[in-house]
This record gives sequence, C-alpha cells and structure tokens, in this order.
Amino acid sequence: MMQDNVDRVQIGPVQVGAYLDQQQLLETIVNDQGQIFAGSAIAINPEKVMTARQDQAVAQMLQQAEIRYADGIGVVVVMRLRLKRAIQRIPGCELWQALMLRCARFQVPVYLVGAKPQVLAQTKDKLLQQQVDVVGATDGYFNDEQQVIESIRQSGAQVISVAMGSPKQEQFIDRCKKQLPACFFMGVGGSYDVFTGNVKRAPALWCKLHLEWAYRLVSQPSRLGRQGKLFHYLWLVLRGRL
Ligand code: UDP
Repeated sequence: MMQDNVDRVQIGPVQVGAYLDQQQLLETIVNDQGQIFAGSAIAINPEKVMTARQDQAVAQMLQQAEIRYADGIGVVVVMRLRLKRAIQRIPGCELWQALMLRCARFQVPVYLVGAKPQVLAQTKDKLLQQQVDVVGATDGYFNDEQQVIESIRQSGAQVISVAMGSPKQEQFIDRCKKQLPACFFMGVGGSYDVFTGNVKRAPALWCKLHLEWAYRLVSQPSRLGRQGKLFHYLWLVLRGRL
C-alpha cells in the first residue's frame, strides 16, 4: 500500500494531514505512475472537529479515513500556526473535480455513487465529456447496498466517489472499503449538485476571501446553529484549548 508521508497536526480529537496544497494530495491519491492510494479521504473543517469532541462515533468515523485533509480556513490557520509553514486549504469540491481530471489523465476507472438519478446522469455525462473513464454509477437512494458493492466490484473501478451527504456517505464507504480494500473512496457531499449547476456555490470572491461560511450563512440563515460551532472553535483555539 502507498503511504502518505506528511506531518499530522492534532486538533482536538482529530489528526489532520499537512498536505502542502491540492496538487500534493492529488499525487498522493493517484501517483505519477497512475497507482491508486488504497483507502479513503475525508475533509476536516472546524464543525467536524467540534462535533467529534462531543461525539465518539463521529471521532471514530473521521479516524477511519486514512487521509484527513484541511478544508475550512479555521483548520488551516491552526495548522499554519503549529507547523510554522505554508499550508493551503483544500476545498473538497475542487479536490474532487481535480481528481476526476487526474483519473482521466491516467485512465483510472471511476465509479459514481450518490445524488438524485437526474443529477447523477448529468454528472456522468459531463465527466464522460471530460474523458473520465466512468465505468458505472448508482444514485444515492438505493435499498440493496450489497448489490451496489457487487456492481462496483464488477465494474473494475479503482476510484469511487460517494455523494450522499454526511454521515451516510462515510458509513457506506466504511462498509464498502472492507470488501474492496484496493480502491480509493472519497465522500463528496453535494459536489455533483454543484458540478452540474443544480446548486450554486459561493461566488469566487467570497471563496478567495475565505468567507464562504459567511456566504452560506447569509444565503441559508438556518445554518446559524452550525456556525455557532465555528465561533466556539475559534474561541478554544485562541485560548490554546484545542
Ligand atoms: N443524498 C443521497 N442519498 C441520500 C441523501 C442525500 O444521495 O439518502 C444526496 C443528495 O441528493 C445530495 C447529496 O447527498 O446530492 C448531499 O446532500 P447534502 O447537501 O445534504 O450534504 P452535505 O454536502 O451537507 O454533506
């Protein structure tokens, strides 16, 4: 199995891999010989750190992914302070799109799981246009999980992306991984919806300014409860308690 020889930073109960940038992580997942990292990757943001502090099951779920990368500026800032070197934020949705292109370049077969049937069909079409070798797809509303796993096995896929939201996608990946230990799995939340234009992402400028969280708050005020966690997180960081 390939190893990722990166530093790890402990933030609360979560160890986060200090990937320099998206490119370094991409090369870890599919190396320059086209070999695949066996395991799974999960994005870490302050909200997940805070949830893991209170919920042992969530902490375990995060620990099960071999690759934990820093999404969320709150995580990146802590890593920079601790390591005293540059670390870039790696947004999950962008990582996924870049990974698909890297799979296309090395002709790595990809299987798509998740989202509504129509969104999935659009996602598959768009990826095929980008020369991605999509060898199978199943929408995220199936009943027979074992049948899906068999379908993935028979497709010969090496990279499987799962867009079912958290924690559904992580739970599926953990069970799937046990039966397909040589594959790489990535949970991608609502990425297919964004990729196909069915859901809007925060405009580029907000992202550049690391204000994506503020955009989400303004456009979806119901997230206030979740955002409260971010402030609690920052408070703990400032007091050196995380
Ligand atoms: N989804 C799915 N199966 C389910 C529930 C959700 O495939 O049983 C899909 C849904 O269609 C959407 C994606 O999961 O495309 C992400 O949902 P959400 O935005 O709620 O997740 P988040 O990105 O917040 O984790």
